[in-house]
Amino acid sequence: MYICFTTNNVDYSKVLVTGGSGMVGRHLQEILPDAIYIASKDYDLTFPSDVESMYFKYQPKVVIHLAAKVGGIIDNINHPSGYFEENVLMNTNMVSGARMHGVKRFIGILSTCIYPDVVDEYPMTEDMLHNGAPTPTNFSYGYAKRCMAVHIDACNKEHGTQYQYLTPCNLYGEYDKWGENSHFVAALIKKIITTHNNGGEFIKLFGTGKPLRQFMYAEDLAKVIKYVIDNDITDSFNVATPDNLSIKEIARIALGVFKERGETTIKGFAYDTTKPDGQFRKDVSIDRMKSIIPEFEITSLRDGIRRTIDSVLNEQIPI
Ligand code: NAP
Repeated sequence: MYICFTTNNVDYSKVLVTGGSGMVGRHLQEILPDAIYIASKDYDLTFPSDVESMYFKYQPKVVIHLAAKVGGIIDNINHPSGYFEENVLMNTNMVSGARMHGVKRFIGILSTCIYPDVVDEYPMTEDMLHNGAPTPTNFSYGYAKRCMAVHIDACNKEHGTQYQYLTPCNLYGEYDKWGENSHFVAALIKKIITTHNNGGEFIKLFGTGKPLRQFMYAEDLAKVIKYVIDNDITDSFNVATPDNLSIKEIARIALGVFKERGETTIKGFAYDTTKPDGQFRKDVSIDRMKSIIPEFEITSLRDGIRRTIDSVLNEQIPI
């Protein structure tokens, strides 16, 4: 599937992408190969002097700011100050620098996990971002990301810029982190593959399996980003899947996809209910996204997981 992009004659050599070595950045490189991709080895965006040098050198017209300190629940709990400081510094330097250097388009990336922990009505719409504190497990990360939304909105109001933010749900894909700090789908796929390789029967998962999650294939977010640039869309909106599935359903889908490859000893999952579930739900509305990109075809979880497992096994991605 590929959506038909109308093009706005964007000079991609003037598009600068931070976080180019990350999961979304690597997907974006495949569909926007001519842009400039920055990783932390090039510039440490927490330092104003690095950000200034970067803007001065590349003089970008469009900035896609993907870079962030991103991690799992345990790391967020153990390093709340790091998550706050690094994200606030990076985001503040990036937005201020964009304005100072006359950047025309700035796209910041938030996350649905920064929405209020609990609300009266789901799915959450874009206007609910500040209606309550983020979940305690990523309180610092949540507020740091919200600060970027405040900064961008304030910049537009005071300086007439047309900057925006996109708010994606949980993501997964072949360029995910496969080590200790991995996200749920990557950890799940890794457990399935290692349990199969060891001839095991049951895969242990934390919690009850009841919490609900929207999971999007990371390449879809990359396509949405390209679409907003190509079509000169400057609205801020949620980017998520229509499906809000339980952890149990997601696990079953992933195992089903793996079983398509052949016989396995794996019989199912064992849930360790002594471990916490985390936030029960955080689903967001995609009505605004659908009104902006009505023709966008979202990759189903089954297809995205199939592509991820195939890449990991066929291309021997070390996990
Ligand atoms: P990722 O794989 O963790 O990549 C993070 C990127 O940020 C890497 O390229 C990293 O560079 C860069 N970075 C970190 N600290 C930096 C610093 N001090 N200076 C310069 N660069 C720095 O992240 P991702 O999963 O692609 O996420 C992309 C964006 O989507 C992030 O803003 C994230 O908050 C958001 N998001 C992600 C998810 C998800 O499930 N992954 C869900 C919702 C929203 P190095 O590789 O060189 O360290």
